[in-house]
Amino acid sequence: MAKSLESEHPIKAYGYAAHDTSGKFSPVTFSRRVTGEKDVRFKVLYCGICHSDIHFGKNEWGVTTYPVIPGHEIVGIVTEVGSKVEKFKVGDTVGVGCLVDSCRSCESCISDCEQFCAKQVQTYGVQNYDGTQAYGGYSDHMISDEHFVLRWPEKLPLDSGAPLLCAGITTYSPLRYFGLDKPGTKVGVVGLGGLGHVAVKMAKAFGAEVTVFSTTAAKKEEAIEGLKADHFIISKDEEQMKAAMGTLDGIIDTVSGNHPILGLLGTLKPNGKLVILGAPEKPHEVAAFSLIFGRKTVAGSAIGGLKETQEMLDFAAEHGITADVEVIPIDYVNTAIERLLKSDVRYRFVIDVANSLKAE
Ligand SMILES: [Zn+2]
Ligand SMILES: [Zn+2]
Repeated sequence: MAKSLESEHPIKAYGYAAHDTSGKFSPVTFSRRVTGEKDVRFKVLYCGICHSDIHFGKNEWGVTTYPVIPGHEIVGIVTEVGSKVEKFKVGDTVGVGCLVDSCRSCESCISDCEQFCAKQVQTYGVQNYDGTQAYGGYSDHMISDEHFVLRWPEKLPLDSGAPLLCAGITTYSPLRYFGLDKPGTKVGVVGLGGLGHVAVKMAKAFGAEVTVFSTTAAKKEEAIEGLKADHFIISKDEEQMKAAMGTLDGIIDTVSGNHPILGLLGTLKPNGKLVILGAPEKPHEVAAFSLIFGRKTVAGSAIGGLKETQEMLDFAAEHGITADVEVIPIDYVNTAIERLLKSDVRYRFVIDVANSLKAE
């Protein structure tokens, strides 16, 4: 028989878990493994709320094992390191993003793209290699192999920096990979939410000229005044879309609701790339001619490898990039999720775990 949550490992832990498809979170006692030779254990200070946490909480992707303890935008302070840990010592500030393990030997792992390893272990919602469930950052402490632990740059704030571990790398990686990181590049960003607002900041830091596409006219001021985007287009406005035809080198599409992409392809220059980051329920429709004329590409991208995530954190620290956040106590998480689902947050909730999660 499977051991209980509290006794499968020797180290006591506390957290917030969803127990059924209501996706409502409540306090839970569980356990974490002893510190292995390459393990880093850290006290969680802050953890961002990503939309994936909600999908997992409600089992919207059909893969949830309950109870689920989400959270993959985690910042904390090291409390213990294994005997063979080289990069970290007790007292260091660290981060953990969406991955906590991978095979370390496949082509993806060897080329620093652990995010594509077929045997990757995500931070929560899946099984660790030892067969126990992985639990994320809505908890008092975390443990991970040092390869999956990021060094937190001194200049980067802990609370507003936390979301970069998912939203930051998810937008930074495609901008770099698809060559949209050069000064003067014309970059479109579709959707102005948790991912989109960080995409605008990253692209601006690379020196790009940024156009925000949104269905909400009210977001114009936020985009232009708040985030320093250069242009704003209401994607439902045919005149505005027509005027932007053939002007962009690339587009980062962060929208996860169903939406048409044909018009977006039209705004690309020849050789332009449309990079999909959101996963709508309905498949996208792409007319062949919209790609053929102009040799255009529709591509996808998911987070980034550990090496690139470290590079992204250092870049963000250097350029003063953080997410716009609302910091909340952990017992506000259910309300926060209701608000997030109504887009009533600018733009990311971050849980102040250390000051609000108390052992029962
Ligand atoms: Zn995420
Ligand atoms: Zn691998």
